[in-house]
Amino acid sequence: MNARPHSTAPAPVAIVGAGVTGLTAAFRLRQRGIASVVYEAAARPGGPVHTQAHAGYLAEDGPNTLLETSPKLRQLIQDLGLEGDCLTSDPAANQRYIVRGGRPVPVPDSLLGWLRTPLFSFGAKLSVLAELLRPRGRADVQETVADFVRRRLGQEFLDYAINPFVGGVYAGDPEQLSLREAFPKLHQVETRYRSLFLGQILGARERRQSGETPKDRAPKLSFRHGLGSLVTALERHLGDAVRLATPVTALQRHAHGWRVEVGPQGQREVVEHSAVLLAAPAHRLAQIHLNAGPDASLTWLGELTYAAVTVLVLGFRREDVAHPLDGFGALIPAVERQSILGVIFNSSLFPHRAPPGHVTLTCYLGGARSPELALASEAVQLATTREALGRLLGVRGEPTFLHRTVHRHAIPQYKLGFGDFRARLTRLEQVAPGLRLAGHFRNGIALTDCLLAGLQVAEEMAATAEPGVRV
Ligand SMILES: Cc1cc2nc3c(=O)[nH]c(=O)nc-3n(C[C@H](O)[C@H](O)[C@H](O)COP(=O)(O)OP(=O)(O)OC[C@H]3O[C@@H](n4cnc5c(N)ncnc54)[C@H](O)[C@@H]3O)c2cc1C
Repeated sequence: MNARPHSTAPAPVAIVGAGVTGLTAAFRLRQRGIASVVYEAAARPGGPVHTQAHAGYLAEDGPNTLLETSPKLRQLIQDLGLEGDCLTSDPAANQRYIVRGGRPVPVPDSLLGWLRTPLFSFGAKLSVLAELLRPRGRADVQETVADFVRRRLGQEFLDYAINPFVGGVYAGDPEQLSLREAFPKLHQVETRYRSLFLGQILGARERRQSGETPKDRAPKLSFRHGLGSLVTALERHLGDAVRLATPVTALQRHAHGWRVEVGPQGQREVVEHSAVLLAAPAHRLAQIHLNAGPDASLTWLGELTYAAVTVLVLGFRREDVAHPLDGFGALIPAVERQSILGVIFNSSLFPHRAPPGHVTLTCYLGGARSPELALASEAVQLATTREALGRLLGVRGEPTFLHRTVHRHAIPQYKLGFGDFRARLTRLEQVAPGLRLAGHFRNGIALTDCLLAGLQVAEEMAATAEPGVRV
């Protein structure tokens, strides 16, 4: 580290990455009276959380909804002054569709609905019911999501419920993801109650007491001007504590804290900090040179694989879409061999997502299922998507709006072995005191997980902060 030293006292906390994790941590640290500087490599904060408005359409580059699983999220929204802008998705939009036989079939939400639905054969329904009687799995075996679902619920349930769901959430492949790491609650339910059905019934009281809401039942939130409002509000509160276009390139630990090398090529500076929170994506952290003793390195973080995804937001005239769009959207199982992973009916979820007489559809392409399509040209992606929308939703006519975002590293894949990766993160924190790591590569991939992780790590850092760093 031979850049110009720059002395600042008292030294604030350095936060690497102004995604929602880093920004939320900085906000909570500030609430606890602790100064921080958030270094962001890109020219804007938020990572994939970014909304663009154009000609009456509102397009999300990445996430579309925030799941309100914990009262801490509502509190954060209030603290940020966003309560008045907050929208809960239209209850009518709770209906979800899964494609079977080339048609979107409503996902049933009652026992009678389950018995009648054409989504599953009679044999598959019996196999799901038999889950109540099946024994626990072996505690010493690390299972993929697919192996777990096949064992407890059967192949057809895997194909027509879990595979599209995993495609929608992780853009991932259930044959590769680890049950214990990607869906820890399901793993815990089996361990504790033996049966998932029993767990649903017996665990209800415990969930009520904790105040937490499971993700599948949590209200889906956004803001009047989209999820980008969350990032804008965090940035507004933090002011010049957020330094954009300022990547962190090296970290050096010394007796009293950390020397952090920041800035683009040719304009590097070294800044003193009391502690460091790493909240950038794993593959980017892997490029940061860490000098904190013989056992400390960040290079291995590059081993975590990410799925690539392209988000295509398309507008259409209402009369050009045959489907009623009465729901959240449609997910597409891999066995259906369609080109897209799924589509969200945005203008049915929240108001002001499309001009009057028009609709907005957000389509996801690629993922672990077809990585080459995620990185294909716009022309190829658009043609493929329009063909799929024509077949699935009866979409005709030219799009009236198009917004495309390619995420080369969209979602980290919590595959078998991710538990060891997570344990290494903990060991790294132990050998490099004052260094913390949080974000989608550790705490869960949902926006909600990242916000809660930012709050939690900030509380932990505040509890151990030196008095000198208080603002
Ligand atoms: C297409 C897509 C759709 C999604 N949909 C949903 C959804 O509907 N609901 C949901 O809950 N979640 C969704 N997610 C997941 C969720 O958006 C992410 O997991 C979450 O935003 C990650 O936040 P983060 O702060 O951990 O990381 P990031 O947002 O990736 O932030 C990390 C930041 O670090 C910066 N950085 C990188 N290197 C450096 C460096 N050397 N120095 C300084 N800064 C650096 C990056 O530029 C970035 O801004 C979606 C994600 C994607 C990509």
